[in-house]
Amino acid sequence: MNEHQTQEVEPAPALDPDLPPPEIDPAKLDADGLKVLRHLRRNGHQAYFVGGCVRDLLLSAKPKDFDIATSASPEEVRRTFRNCRLIGRRFRLAHVYFQGHKVIEVATFRKNPVEEILVETPQAAEGDLLISEDNVFGTAEEDARRRDFTINGLFYDVALGEVIDYVGGRTDLAARVIRTIGSPAIRIREDPVRILRAIRFAAKLELQIEPGTWEAMKAHASELSRCAPARVFEEILRLLRSGASRRALELLREAGALAMLLPSVDAFLASAPEIESSRFYGLLDFVDARLRAGLPTDDSILLGALLLRIVRAAPQKDSPLTAIEPLLNELVRVARLPRRIAEGTRLLVLSQGALLGERRRRGSPTRFMRSPHFDEALLLMEANAQVSGEGAEALERWKERRAAMSPEASRAAALGPAGVPTSPRGPRAGSQPRRPAPPAIERAAEPDDSAGDAFGSSGLL
Ligand code: ATP
Ligand code: MG
Repeated sequence: MNEHQTQEVEPAPALDPDLPPPEIDPAKLDADGLKVLRHLRRNGHQAYFVGGCVRDLLLSAKPKDFDIATSASPEEVRRTFRNCRLIGRRFRLAHVYFQGHKVIEVATFRKNPVEEILVETPQAAEGDLLISEDNVFGTAEEDARRRDFTINGLFYDVALGEVIDYVGGRTDLAARVIRTIGSPAIRIREDPVRILRAIRFAAKLELQIEPGTWEAMKAHASELSRCAPARVFEEILRLLRSGASRRALELLREAGALAMLLPSVDAFLASAPEIESSRFYGLLDFVDARLRAGLPTDDSILLGALLLRIVRAAPQKDSPLTAIEPLLNELVRVARLPRRIAEGTRLLVLSQGALLGERRRRGSPTRFMRSPHFDEALLLMEANAQVSGEGAEALERWKERRAAMSPEASRAAALGPAGVPTSPRGPRAGSQPRRPAPPAIERAAEPDDSAGDAFGSSGLL
């Protein structure tokens, strides 16, 4: 096993006593990331922590992951580490693996391919700037400049204990401002997904978007339709998982990006009476509070919270099924919403009718409660009751029944500890037969009514 792969705790890097104290507390740096840095440096390469981790540490927030930028080529990185794999075709990266499925991402310094073209032919700025290839290696400074926002363009040199700032990121961090590196219009047109990224950082870290950057985001929001749907989907999920989805949705709407991504949600907010839009945002507040408390919250709950009020506010003539289909189809079209998540979301939203006693379902309440998704459906019911008062009494009854359920039955239902839903990705969820949802029955029923089921297999409808 190589030196860098040993698992014993290593002391923090020795710092020269003549140097000023490090700008970032060494105890806050990731031990495995430090091993990777040290090993790259020993092999003669430049290597720094970069991006989100430096930004978050300077804001006293906890970084999600510790990315590394280096002068070593991907192939050199691969040769330096035994526990390493190269990934990605368009943007080749090295993943260095550590115990417990931990991965440290190591990227070679690159330069912005669009900038090269613009230097040679400035008139190209009038044309198509969308980045399609991103593998031109460069220097540390070029690598800082190709990044999206100044606050994301900082390096941290562990050996010197120093932040390296080629882009004015420190000043913007101190002023809590998000600003593109270079011309906002060019940088947004190169990659319109940056609109969603700016909104995520603004919402999550409570930062302001610099006016020039904001104007460019608004001017080019329609170009989001040109981005790869998979990237758009990933960013939508990151917004919903951010713990600040309410603010993110407000900003998406103001920037004109919501009309591009989810036109039905945008249209709902444009025409909904005040009480309905405040219920919509209330559901987002509910999931935000859960996420900030670190409670597990599956993506289908996040999407259910996003869509539930729109479905419930649909005209009476529309059944919930008719109301939810176009919303999910929109997500599939714009963002290639994966089928598994679409089905989970549909199930959670449609099950509300059965929980509220608005629709009949088959089987006993116990069978209903044994559904692997019952706790999640109940959670969405609770959120809805909190924001709208709907079904508050029925909710209490379901909760009592759920609490009285025998431990064996709970286990059989593959549920987690009370109140903490398990993921639908769990083995039982995966083994549920998939059938297309038949039409809804719009007949009022008591929550414990055990006659007739139009939905069949899930046990939840
Ligand atoms: P988070 O903490 O949410 O992961 P992050 O800033 O680390 O935020 P990542 O998506 O992990 O975001 O990207 C890592 C870094 O890569 C960013 O900080 C930024 O420097 C750069 N980057 C990521 N996406 C882009 C992009 N679309 N355009 C330019 N630079 C980008
Ligand atoms: Mg990151």
